[in-house]
Amino acid sequence: MLRQVAEGVLIHKSEFCQSNAVVVQGRAGMLLVDPGIRGAELACLANDLSDAGQTVVAGFSTHPHWDHLLWYPGFGAAPRYGTARCAATIRAGLSDANWQARVAGMLPPDIADQIPMDLLGLITGLPGEKAASIPWDGPEVRIIEHQAHAQGHAALLIEELGVLVAGDMLSDVLIPMLDMGAAEPIEDYLAALQQLEAVAGDIDVFIPGHGSTGGVDEARARIEQDRAYVHALRDAGVPSDPRIGPSAAFDWVADVHERQLHHLAQRTGRDGTSEQ
Ligand SMILES: [Zn+2]
Repeated sequence: MLRQVAEGVLIHKSEFCQSNAVVVQGRAGMLLVDPGIRGAELACLANDLSDAGQTVVAGFSTHPHWDHLLWYPGFGAAPRYGTARCAATIRAGLSDANWQARVAGMLPPDIADQIPMDLLGLITGLPGEKAASIPWDGPEVRIIEHQAHAQGHAALLIEELGVLVAGDMLSDVLIPMLDMGAAEPIEDYLAALQQLEAVAGDIDVFIPGHGSTGGVDEARARIEQDRAYVHALRDAGVPSDPRIGPSAAFDWVADVHERQLHHLAQRTGRDGTSEQ
């Protein structure tokens, strides 16, 4: 079911990880961002759109992780975009002959057979080292590219509607998950939070890729919460964070936290151990 969060902006929830697909009303049809996860949910969204007499005229993936790269035949053959870095990352992944097996290993086993993989990642990188906006006939959707969480991650700012699409940042259910393949994962994450902070005052609502939406005060609170978490990670401190505590939405997030701590410790050698 589609739910309006701002004028001309709707979200559609997927059960997996409380994922949010975002739909933006354009002049000739809809922009669809990170469509969703299970086939039945994608079909539901396609039906909602056709019941409303709408077609999808453009797609966008916020970053090159499988749960943001899916598509469904019912959405039609609209061009699908991502940042140049996002598209390059996916292209490299898909050129590996074993990509299907690799991606299959990342899927949650209980729903793996319900996730349609045929159209995964078929996106076009927007030209330029840093594309400024999504090319489509609708309100300007500004791309705020950064390297936190994944290479070529994009947050989207729709200034005239007061909406920020945050991708996999600013979640109330998932901790910041750093791109441990990057040279400076902590610094990348903190820099990205600064970029989001710089626009947070201009919005009425933000939509995280996973979890609940909020207004400007909540956006500022989530930026602070994410920053506090990343600082704790950097300093090998113990974060007091509801997303990994006893009231956490997902119990596996605590394991992700432990893995991130371990990974950073190995990088810096601060726990005295190292893998040979
Ligand atoms: Zn992600």
